[in-house]
Amino acid sequence: METINSISNMTELSANWRREGLSIALVPTMGYFHEGHLALMRMARTEADRVVVSLFVNPSQFGPGEDLERYPRDLERDARLARDQGVDCLFCPSAEEMYLPGFQTWISVERLSQGLCGASRPGHFRGVATVVAKLFNITCPDIAVFGQKDFQQLRIIQRMVKDLNMPIDIMAHPIVREPDGLAMSSRNSYLSKEERRSAVSLYQALMRAKEMVADGIRSGQDIIQAVREHILSYANTEIDYIFLGDPEELKEYREVHGKTLLALAVWVGETRLIDNMLLVQ
Ligand code: AMP
Repeated sequence: METINSISNMTELSANWRREGLSIALVPTMGYFHEGHLALMRMARTEADRVVVSLFVNPSQFGPGEDLERYPRDLERDARLARDQGVDCLFCPSAEEMYLPGFQTWISVERLSQGLCGASRPGHFRGVATVVAKLFNITCPDIAVFGQKDFQQLRIIQRMVKDLNMPIDIMAHPIVREPDGLAMSSRNSYLSKEERRSAVSLYQALMRAKEMVADGIRSGQDIIQAVREHILSYANTEIDYIFLGDPEELKEYREVHGKTLLALAVWVGETRLIDNMLLVQ
């Protein structure tokens, strides 16, 4: 596995692969790999001749006061894990080269970016869409793999690719969870022992909502209330949002009908965790 830092070297490698007729899959990440990331890499490995994993803690998707500086990093371990998954290239550009002085071009997927995480993290998805578009231009992939854990992000990237005619297949990987159900996340490393115990409340609340729907309950308000109560019964939890709605357009529903997404963002101590589940597939 090659590790590449320079954008021009990455562009050249991708261009060479394409000239040879090889297909390329990209897995964009911010590093500090866990089983969720590795599962995306394995999916990419089965789908293309060459796999590029980008590792870039993108400053433009962090708001003021967010965790950009303390975001966990371990490049050596990440490189070892990526290599073990059969990744061909780990692309780790610098923020300086990604955002040259005078940078002023942004991609905004407007309506899909407004609610859910977009409401509490203004500018976040503009940063995500822009960096993903840049990574697409640099690595020229045929396929890119994203996790359903960041459901809104996945929808935004799918929309961007469609709206801007990017010739890239977006593949979605299901959420990878710890044995007790907590969705894996690099940010889980921030949790204290006690917070880790509270963090499982997100998954439990989603499962409870799913059971309510299976029992015939349709009222969005009732389901959201039960989810809220369950999460708040744990120490150090604070709800950012609970969304119940349409998984395609991310519009809120009053009642469960057809495919219905339940998505959550919860503060556990100082750590903001997200999770989601389709209540009706
Ligand atoms: P991140 O490094 O957190 O930006 O995540 C990089 C990619 O991995 C994104 O497409 C995420 O949705 C995906 N991902 C992160 N955690 C998980 C998980 N637990 N299960 C599935 N995909 C995940």
